[in-house]
Amino acid sequence: MSVRVRFAPSPTGSMHVGNVRTALFDVLLARSLGGSFVLRVEDTDRNRYDPQSLEDIYGSLRWLGLTWDEGPDIGGPHAPYVQSERLERYQVAAERLLSGGHAYRCYCSSQRLAQLRESGHVGYDRHCRDLSEEQRRSGEASGSGSVVRLRVPEEGSVGFEDGILGTVERAAADITADPVLLKSDGFPTYHLAAIVDDAEMEISHVLRSQEWVPSTPIHLLVQEALDLPRPAYLHLPPVNGPDGRKLGKRHGATAVAEFRERGYLPEAMVNHLALVGWSPGDDRELFSFDELAAAFSLEGINKAPGIFDHGKLDWFNGQHLRRLDDAALAQRVRPYLAEAGVDVGGALDAAAALIRERLTVLVDAPQWLSFLGQDPRLSAAELTPKRLDAAATAQLLRAAQPLLEPVWAGADAADDAVDASLRQLADDHAAKFGDLMMALRMAATGSKVSPPLFGTMRVLGAEATRRRIARAIDTLTAAANANGGATSD
Ligand code: GLU
Repeated sequence: MSVRVRFAPSPTGSMHVGNVRTALFDVLLARSLGGSFVLRVEDTDRNRYDPQSLEDIYGSLRWLGLTWDEGPDIGGPHAPYVQSERLERYQVAAERLLSGGHAYRCYCSSQRLAQLRESGHVGYDRHCRDLSEEQRRSGEASGSGSVVRLRVPEEGSVGFEDGILGTVERAAADITADPVLLKSDGFPTYHLAAIVDDAEMEISHVLRSQEWVPSTPIHLLVQEALDLPRPAYLHLPPVNGPDGRKLGKRHGATAVAEFRERGYLPEAMVNHLALVGWSPGDDRELFSFDELAAAFSLEGINKAPGIFDHGKLDWFNGQHLRRLDDAALAQRVRPYLAEAGVDVGGALDAAAALIRERLTVLVDAPQWLSFLGQDPRLSAAELTPKRLDAAATAQLLRAAQPLLEPVWAGADAADDAVDASLRQLADDHAAKFGDLMMALRMAATGSKVSPPLFGTMRVLGAEATRRRIARAIDTLTAAANANGGATSD
């Protein structure tokens, strides 16, 4: 049997961590076994339909690299299957269920159903289940339309072997009574459309979240009535936050788009999501997509809830950032710099390399690299370390200038020697090395924190660094002179 899996989102809201975890497991299963991954948009609930959500589904899946393998041929990458474009199939199936006696038409008005709900009734009271021929005719004649409901047995039970949960058995009495399969507008409900499509698309494994377990008996009844094959069902463990509660806003971002905007790498998202409810059976944590596909197996999916942890995601992001080479990292950083208006010129690869070790999310990149833009304009006070005065700082910087020249000679070969000569310089001036470095850092970058100083200066370039230090010396000297004037008065 060939492995065929589907991800079947409803375009009614934004894609969140739980949804894409399902899609990821689908794709990993398909990739690990040489099967196919199908995307099916379940858009039959027209009241909740949201076109933006559809864009979000496509965008999120593409961003994560979870691309689908088939669908209508649009002369390019596949279009997904879209249920609202396939209505006839579901209508034909509903007719078959009706003629086989597995379903019946219900003429109840929405007022009647609302009253039923208000009176606290769960499900439908089966009012139309056994109408006489005459009642049926008058229902049809009323012209107010009808829905098709599944005839859920009143006795017995429905069971299935879940690939994760084991045996699941539901007494017929516990199945919500007589769900609607086809609405009066000719659109199917999820229960009918999903079952017709799972069969037509020859789905071998249904992976979905545990919230759908109560619906599965309904699906099995429809399947049996239509004489369709039963795929394997695997209901995935819930996604919780680190506190053991269901993942939600209180834990931070949950929408995929938000992670994307904040500069998480899709590699890191995929890596963390894969471990939310699945484990490779050893203590490996860091995986590329291909490594995951190779390691993935259904046996590794846990029954217990998986934990999605923002702190852990940060860690994964840092790890995956470190796996990128300079050019690849530069590519990822570029849009964030552009967005923040930081112009790095031709130095982007080198700049990216400089911050690789310090970066957690890409959105932080501009803050680390903004020094490459305009020359800083600092006051003497800002340039002067606490233990020194303006005159002493100016003197130190002036003496340090020539010692820095080897920094530009090439790569970092001379950095140790430069470091040693600056230490000596500080000693000779009875100053702290840290203070000297701080003064240099402020002068060159305008900030107390920067990536490693010599590397930073190399990316900035000899000319700009010299110019900035010279400007700092001027500012400090002017302040020292003004001060000197004041004290000699
Ligand atoms: N459309 C359902 C959803 O939004 C699909 C459930 C399933 O995978 O069967 O989650």
